Amino acid sequence: MKVYLIKTPEYNFEDFNEVFELLSSFDGPIEFIASEYEFDKQQFPFLQKFYPDFKFKYDSDLQKVNFDKEFGMPLSWSELFSLCDFYRHTFNIDPNDFVVLLTIRRNALNWFSYCENKNAFVHTGDWENYTNANSKYPIAYQVVENVMQSLMKIDTVTIPNINVHKDSRGCMNDFCENKEQIILKLRTADICPDCIEKIQGENIEQPIVNQVIEIFEGIRKELLFRQKFKTLITPVPISINEKKQILLPQLNNLEIRLNPLFKALYIFYLKHTEGVRLNELNDFKAELLNLYDDLSGADNPHTIELRISDLVNPIGGSFSQKKSKINKIITDLLGEPLANFYRIEGQPGEPFKINIPSRLIDIRY
Ligand SMILES: [Zn+2]
Repeated sequence: MKVYLIKTPEYNFEDFNEVFELLSSFDGPIEFIASEYEFDKQQFPFLQKFYPDFKFKYDSDLQKVNFDKEFGMPLSWSELFSLCDFYRHTFNIDPNDFVVLLTIRRNALNWFSYCENKNAFVHTGDWENYTNANSKYPIAYQVVENVMQSLMKIDTVTIPNINVHKDSRGCMNDFCENKEQIILKLRTADICPDCIEKIQGENIEQPIVNQVIEIFEGIRKELLFRQKFKTLITPVPISINEKKQILLPQLNNLEIRLNPLFKALYIFYLKHTEGVRLNELNDFKAELLNLYDDLSGADNPHTIELRISDLVNPIGGSFSQKKSKINKIITDLLGEPLANFYRIEGQPGEPFKINIPSRLIDIRY
């Protein structure tokens, strides 16, 4: 099953990509695809102008407005969903796959997300008012939540109903009136027994459920880590287990999740704490090939060879681009000063290295 992530033009690509990186760092049958497709503003005139401070006329722009069946309060989300539909038709997306629009635009009912016929939108703005954590966490959570609610066939618009909890239980299907309540769901990462029963009743494939639980759990761990350990100033052990996960066992097994190519490069530097210069990297090509081959699983040998050749080529910037991305993931995850010990650091021409004492490194696979 595929989940395509698309965006409106004003949502910055870096932020969009961080959400994608987070979601795709978990293994399982749900494949996330970040689309760089730019909607044509001539074709969709409502995209031509964006007023960041625009507010709809509701009592508070911090709270959802409920859909009122009796008064037939209209749902005017058609513009957002027209983008999903256009993308779906243009790229011939399988009807079983999801198309999720990430947008910083406010919507008429001020909802944070909504899914209809496997098209969904998630509002990506205003999170800084609710949490110090990176907004990729609540956004990624809601992408998954909407997919799951659709698979569970839950009506999230007619409130109250039997499957949406009006009183917060810390469950995925809590009705969240404001964004603070969404942060609560992130902290509990729970799916309550009633909802588990519903999941079983709808015969959702177990590997999909497992992946969703792992994503929720991963997000929870990263948020809790921020609260509990942010004052830590000395390095803690780092280990790579049999499943090739990079873990910090003393920090509640926090995982540094990297895609296979990044992971190959990172493990390489964990194995070479003496440091390796960029122009020496080519001497270690065989080792890097082995590591990547081992981690990448499905990629064909030709792709593996190409990517590693590119990585060890001192001209072209592949190494420095990948190093910066790895370092950004680590900095976002661990914060300062801790991240300092785990980044790949070095000046051009000098050896690049991870500044953690080798006695703290435990590689088990
Ligand atoms: Zn529940």
